[in-house]
Amino acid sequence: MTVRVGESASAPPFQKAALPLLDDSQRRKNVRHATEVIQRKRALVAGEMPDWQALRESASAIKQQTLLRLDEYLQQFEAACTAAGGHVHWARDAEEANRIVLDLVQQQRTGEVLKIKTMTSDETGLNHALEQAGIHPHETDLAELIVQLGKDRPSHIVVPALHKNRSQVREIFRERMHLPNLGDSPQDLTDAARSYLRERFLRVNTAIGGANFLIAETGSVCIVESEGNGRMCLTMPDTLILMAGIEKVIPTFRDLEVFLQLLPRSATGERMNPYNSIWTGVHPGDGPQNFHVVLLDNGRSPILADDEARQTLQCIRCGACLNSCPVYRQTGGHAYGSTYAGPIGAILTPQLQNMEHAQSLPYASSLCGACYEVCPVKINIPEVLIHLRGRVTRQQKDRFKAEAIGMKLVASVFRSRRRLETAHRLAQVGHLAACPFSFGVLRNMSSIRSVTANPPTTFKVARNSASPATISCEVPRAATTTISAPTTSTPWMGFVALISGVCSTGGILVISDQPTKMASRNENSSCRRLACTWTTPLSGGMRRTSVSALRRRGARR
Ligand code: SF4
Repeated sequence: MTVRVGESASAPPFQKAALPLLDDSQRRKNVRHATEVIQRKRALVAGEMPDWQALRESASAIKQQTLLRLDEYLQQFEAACTAAGGHVHWARDAEEANRIVLDLVQQQRTGEVLKIKTMTSDETGLNHALEQAGIHPHETDLAELIVQLGKDRPSHIVVPALHKNRSQVREIFRERMHLPNLGDSPQDLTDAARSYLRERFLRVNTAIGGANFLIAETGSVCIVESEGNGRMCLTMPDTLILMAGIEKVIPTFRDLEVFLQLLPRSATGERMNPYNSIWTGVHPGDGPQNFHVVLLDNGRSPILADDEARQTLQCIRCGACLNSCPVYRQTGGHAYGSTYAGPIGAILTPQLQNMEHAQSLPYASSLCGACYEVCPVKINIPEVLIHLRGRVTRQQKDRFKAEAIGMKLVASVFRSRRRLETAHRLAQVGHLAACPFSFGVLRNMSSIRSVTANPPTTFKVARNSASPATISCEVPRAATTTISAPTTSTPWMGFVALISGVCSTGGILVISDQPTKMASRNENSSCRRLACTWTTPLSGGMRRTSVSALRRRGARR
């Protein structure tokens, strides 16, 4: 079995592939602009839906339930599709899928085929296999056409030419369509593509595509699109061949109600796709008379067996996670070296290949959680990323030896109070990262980050060394501040010093020598926790409290 996901097996690690792309300011500008526009539109139309979160819950539940009984639903789909006049083929891997499609195309004795946008055929490298057999695939989706004519690679799962701007598209069309006077307005470009494709729609009688949803109950196939090229391919040719991953099946026709509300809003910020094609089998005299569906596994079955990562197969390929990802928005899709870019690519590609390739991808994330928030089927991508990082670490024990040793060292320090105190003292002396003589990776880190200085005195030291009348208050913020105020003469002098100190950090603290009369408010929302420690002659011991406790006491007073 050869599981292939585009060229990911030979692609360089993400961190290496991203470097030259980061230097391409035009590409970064194009990606940023396009993702911002789609995100804005998505937020608008999702915000209009009062039941948006309920829809997400429903979609997630439907997908989870389907994945648990995927074998049954696939067989149900096969039976219904076959009964309606279609043919269902099963492909274990990319090679088998390409061979099935190639055989079907060759039976038509044609040297060219139409293609509807399909990520699955990118995954298996179908275009390459067709070309090697002397069959020319014509991409009919506008963005795929730009990529094909520009001899480029897709960089986004919904908008494959997202990294190109209009003038770059015009140059490609000018050169490849032989249109020297072409303008760069959207109207000019779409008119050029339209007349280029129209002639092919009328000439070629075999089409290859993918599927957004396979409906088990009826054996129907659903394809949603915005340009009408799909509708042309689904109605005009005699032969239609679809290649779809096994996870595309949903149980009932009614389930479409949920997904057709979520998908267009999440993908392109549209309330509904302009073209929604749903058909079942073959109808004499109406549309394609040879209809084939190739169900592709290509590494999906082992993902089903992984309880934590199974949710990856819930994906409906809307691309919302790519648009929201701060890493994708800096690098674009090519750095991922895979058909699937962005957060979904970072979890799907390595899993499809049983973690043998693309092991750098689970690290191509800041784990900020933006992808999870926008995902219409609620895939917890950060959770899966962490799970996969664990798998990578376990698989590559030797390569991560230094990190493993470091972690063991840290664990042993945290296990022992004495060792931890020694480490604190050493950190105060060293403060290595801020040291002008820092070297190697520390020098690089400290050139772009400031390292918070260790407080000169820890709580423990303050407690042990202080007279009974010492007050110390620590306000953990971006930069930790420790304030100590001697209160030997009178507690009130110390309190005044303390109040002014706390105020200078952005907080407001009111303290009396009676702990029960203590009240505090902190108006600075960036301060999540305020811990106070004080010792007074009256209390005679160390007391500790937190903002919430202080607030409660304040409220009671
Ligand atoms: S993981 Fe979620 S947000 Fe990302 S493409 Fe899939 S469905 Fe869309």
